[in-house]
Amino acid sequence: MERRRRSAYMDHAATTPTRPEAVEAMLPYFSERFGNPSSLYALAREAKEAVEEARGQVAAAIGARPEEVYFTSGGTEADNWAVKGVAAALRGKGDHIITSAIEHHAVLHPCRALERKGYRVTYLPVDEFGRVDPGTVEDAVTDRTILISVMAANNEIGTIQPVAAIGKVAHDHGILFHTDAVQAIGAFPVDVDGMGADLLALSAHKFGGPKGTGALYVRKGTRLETFMDGGAQERGRRAGTENVPGIVGLGRAIELAVAEMPRNSARIAAMRDRLIRGILDAVPDTRLNGHPTERLPNNVNVAFRYVEGESILLMLDALGVSASTGSACTSASLEPSHVLTACGLPPEHAHGSLRLTLGSGNTEDDVDYVLSVLPGVIERLRQMSPLGPGRA
Ligand SMILES: *Cc1c(COP(=O)(O)O)cnc(C)c1O
Repeated sequence: MERRRRSAYMDHAATTPTRPEAVEAMLPYFSERFGNPSSLYALAREAKEAVEEARGQVAAAIGARPEEVYFTSGGTEADNWAVKGVAAALRGKGDHIITSAIEHHAVLHPCRALERKGYRVTYLPVDEFGRVDPGTVEDAVTDRTILISVMAANNEIGTIQPVAAIGKVAHDHGILFHTDAVQAIGAFPVDVDGMGADLLALSAHKFGGPKGTGALYVRKGTRLETFMDGGAQERGRRAGTENVPGIVGLGRAIELAVAEMPRNSARIAAMRDRLIRGILDAVPDTRLNGHPTERLPNNVNVAFRYVEGESILLMLDALGVSASTGSACTSASLEPSHVLTACGLPPEHAHGSLRLTLGSGNTEDDVDYVLSVLPGVIERLRQMSPLGPGRA
């Protein structure tokens, strides 16, 4: 008899399902209230009002003023805008940027692009748990430094950075501070003043909103070059007809994510801890990547010796489990993840890393299911592996 196929989605750091409340809020703005917010009639005013309501919802969620929130096409655009926009606006003042070695590519690659244009970038090291020491930020500051960019929490290993202390270093030296808070929204309280952030990036699809919508917080008075030139949308700083349904969905999702955070984070962190303990207890030659306590409530990242992360993913996929690997082999390169490498993980550990990221849709049954299949998967792969214990 065929058993119903089980499945468990455990890749919420990659994306989350759009929550029904967000979809419901968005629907009228496709075909009924479809006006262009820049037009001058009632239909357009409805769309404009919806965008402004969402701006207020985002501002309230991060302790900002509505006029400091600019909608973008997502986290990647927000990060690009912050890094390249400050670099261009402050070129006369300096040419040096400080960031960390474990940022998302949405920050690292703009930094690389700026290096090709003559800017200098310091990529700060992290400790074995992936933490940036604010003292190293202080040491890296020069009189040419114009921007410090350190993420609030890491998407691969879940490590939470001491952003308030880093923001303080920035401000003590009169330097702008940007933080990629894409993974932080809905996980722990985000407050632009408490973090000392002049710029902050967020992305709707990481907290139950739709893909292709995000926002950049820009503190009033911050010098920032426009990223998109065109119409006068977003106070003339980000041209292009607004993605009204997306923005409405983002607003509703962030409002709910923040309201539900205390209960949700506690429930998810309990599942995370059960997963971590269960895996480490059941599988030998395994270690936890990332910080043991300063960690996103939804992040599990473990390194299994003697196996390849990609093989684990394939076998888990066949068992209905959606997960992710620490190594960047999706790109067909055999380079281990820049994050795990920066944490000092030897390649044999980095290559066998697995990331499971939980979300509000996950249940204790999902945790039980993963714990019931994962040890067998690792055992089989180790038996097949030429790297297996006692074989090398
Ligand atoms: C997903 C993610 C991004 C990119 O956001 P998109 O909206 O997918 O472009 C940037 N930074 C971090 C930390 C992320 O997790």
